[in-house]
Amino acid sequence: MKRRDFIAALGASSAVSSAAIDQEGAAKPPARPLSVTLLGTGTPAPSLERQSSGYLIEVGGDLIVWDHGPGAHQRLLESGHRTIDVTHAFFTHLHYDHCMDYGRLVLQRWDQGAGRIADLNVYGPPPIARMTEQLFGADGIYGPDIRARVEHRSSLDVFEARGGTLPRRRPAPRVTEIHAGTVIDGAGWKITVGHAQHVQPYLECLAFRIDTKEGSICYTGDSGPSDSIVELARGCDLLIHMNHYFSGTEPSPAYRAACSNHRDNAVIAKRAGVKTLVLTHLLAQIDQPAIREQIVHEIQNVFEGKVIWGEDLMKLTPAGSRMTNIETRQG
Ligand SMILES: [Zn+2]
Repeated sequence: MKRRDFIAALGASSAVSSAAIDQEGAAKPPARPLSVTLLGTGTPAPSLERQSSGYLIEVGGDLIVWDHGPGAHQRLLESGHRTIDVTHAFFTHLHYDHCMDYGRLVLQRWDQGAGRIADLNVYGPPPIARMTEQLFGADGIYGPDIRARVEHRSSLDVFEARGGTLPRRRPAPRVTEIHAGTVIDGAGWKITVGHAQHVQPYLECLAFRIDTKEGSICYTGDSGPSDSIVELARGCDLLIHMNHYFSGTEPSPAYRAACSNHRDNAVIAKRAGVKTLVLTHLLAQIDQPAIREQIVHEIQNVFEGKVIWGEDLMKLTPAGSRMTNIETRQG
């Protein structure tokens, strides 16, 4: 099956959002049931098959991205959504493979939104506020570009043609720095921030869980096996867990502690009592026929729930999906 057919077979919503602009200029997307689309299931390694980390949560009237690594934004467009419809961005940690498309998201959203949508709500560990200022501030990396777009007549003509009203404002993401234990209440959803075991103390590393009346989804970010992940994920419908490599091939104990493998994940999923384990952040070395079947089989010897081998653009819901245990890519 070709990748496109495979995606269609998932019943993924490929229809572009029909968000309308009301009289106040605010976007009014339709209410959506809780789902997660895997935008990037790869690693920092370049890949045409797997983009770097990114997840899209659809819930109610909100479109939330969890991490936005290189290529994740392209996948968001491929999933049928518009840049301007993203309402919130959350970052687990600031490794580049989890945040490199942040600049693209903010700038394209600001450009296309033409002053008619609210600024992006951004949540992440420090130094996300400093990073934001260094990207989009007057003296930031994109400072000269932004100044040209808010002052040059040609750019202002385009801005007005898109429905904008002068003077044009600079992009101003609404940044909140978060830590393990932070809880964010949204419209019909609650996101709880947990601790991920990764590359501390160099980066603060977080994990997320969203709860709604439709179910719950937990995402580890990058994490080795951790009691804190077990606590955060306890009883959730979907646990999206980093599954970086084949158990036993780790070069060192430090590597195993920071980046998880399939046998450790099986124990974590079992202890947490989750319904479905979604494997992601997959190295090309294990993304091979026979190896992935062995990995899933060995996990299922320990964990009795469902195991999904993540692929870019998979869309999953807490209630289940049409996924079989392994969906292979033949295109
Ligand atoms: Zn990382």
